[in-house]
Amino acid sequence: MTDCVFCKIIAGEIPSTKVYEDERFLAFRDLSPVASTHVLIVPKQHIESVAVLTPEKEAEGLSGIFCVARAIAEAEGIREDGFRLVVNTGQHGGQTVPHFHLHVIGGKELGWPPFAN
Ligand code: AMP
Ligand code: ZN
Repeated sequence: MTDCVFCKIIAGEIPSTKVYEDERFLAFRDLSPVASTHVLIVPKQHIESVAVLTPEKEAEGLSGIFCVARAIAEAEGIREDGFRLVVNTGQHGGQTVPHFHLHVIGGKELGWPPFAN
């Protein structure tokens, strides 16, 4: 996707602060962090959102994203205290970048429920 900001980050066309990379995923710090750790994990393959997920796309390795999240939590020193994983989906879900991503948020006790209105 040529006009996708996360595809451009993956391609190295937009700078980011990378914290993890393997053949399937890239993780980088969120531009507007909501906690001391706020990392986004994105599949290198452009998948718009959970709303368009299919068994075939899942089979390409998306479920491995949770082990990446655990590794990032470990590296950030937040694994034991806990953290939150968020996948905003579509307009009502508050998704602003249409390339599937998992937010890894931690470093403080987070409120629940997460919505403000
Ligand atoms: P969402 O609202 O779930 O779609 O989350 C998109 C996230 O991407 C937001 O938290 C933004 O702060 C973040 N974001 C947007 N552009 C960039 C960028 N160029 N580098 C890092 N994070 C970004
Ligand atoms: Zn993309």
